Amino acid sequence: MEISITKTATPAQKPDSSTLGFGKVFTDHMFIMDYSVDKGWHDARIVPFGKISLHPASTVLHYGAEIFEGLKAYRKEDGSVQLFRPIENIRRMNRSAERMCLPQIPEDDFMDILKKFIGFEQDWTPSAPGTSLYIRPFMFGNDESLGVHSVKNATFMIITSPVGSYYKEGINPVKIMIESDDVRAVRGGTGEAKCGGNYAASTRAGERAEQKGYSQVLWLDGVERKYIEEVGAMNVMFKIDGEIVTPKLVGSILPGITRKSCIELLSNEGYKVSERLISVDELIDALETGKLEEAWGCGTAAVVSPIGELCYKDKKYTINGGKIGQVTQHLYDTLTGIQWGNLEDTYGWTCKL
Ligand SMILES: *Cc1c(COP(=O)(O)O)cnc(C)c1O
Repeated sequence: MEISITKTATPAQKPDSSTLGFGKVFTDHMFIMDYSVDKGWHDARIVPFGKISLHPASTVLHYGAEIFEGLKAYRKEDGSVQLFRPIENIRRMNRSAERMCLPQIPEDDFMDILKKFIGFEQDWTPSAPGTSLYIRPFMFGNDESLGVHSVKNATFMIITSPVGSYYKEGINPVKIMIESDDVRAVRGGTGEAKCGGNYAASTRAGERAEQKGYSQVLWLDGVERKYIEEVGAMNVMFKIDGEIVTPKLVGSILPGITRKSCIELLSNEGYKVSERLISVDELIDALETGKLEEAWGCGTAAVVSPIGELCYKDKKYTINGGKIGQVTQHLYDTLTGIQWGNLEDTYGWTCKL
């Protein structure tokens, strides 16, 4: 894979690790590559970070042909930088592309681009505890016409942002509202693709929950409004009567890499882990009978996010006394230990640049 490089003439001052938020500061460069049906992927280039220009009829602006990924580069104690299961992000992005009629990127080329570009920007990976370099690959349809069809032109980019620790004030359990009106996705729709449109459609419920004092919503399935799907933009897991349960991937749920890692870790450690349908009635029953021991969201940004309170139809339920549970804490310690290289990676999940 040939990648041309244009270095910035005005490198920025790297921010102080203690001031980092999420996705506000970007590194000096970005990666871009173009696709056309005739030429395939071409003009792979690293260029100074900056604005891009689009034709006003560009497909993405009208019909939402956009997909993305999110992963992180972690700085180890010895100064080197590593990725966590990047092949999973690559494969998922190609599955999202297939769903949205966008072009796929051969796995080897994608991996090559990722390693070269992150290698090029690696000095931007912060080293303070809990900080990392967030990597955002994304792709959009870029035909310059209003016709509706699968796109003939697309653009793939990667931008990178040094991000602060998700838990600056320690891991505090969040309050979650079970959403009965809006739905995030339906089977056969785009729920299992990581596409921008899913986020646009989810924002209203999240905002309403925030106004009522909750951090996020727990989504129910779009057909029966009965089965648990996800929490905000994270997958969700429960410990019910000793068993770890998480919604099965039925087509409307995003197949998270953190979810997959939690399942593999816990199964390997001898926990009973079930991927199955979980109805809201089962959950409420488990809450009322004291069988719901733990609940947490999981995703790359937070790793795990314990749920301390659930609200359903105006009734409030506390989980594990509003404190982080033992399994949730164990997952956090193990995954972050492997990601930052402080624990031995017996799974072969980490990837050097
Ligand atoms: C990205 C995402 C997740 C989490 O996936 P990870 O690979 O674990 O980061 C979960 N749900 C939604 C809707 C997402 O977009």
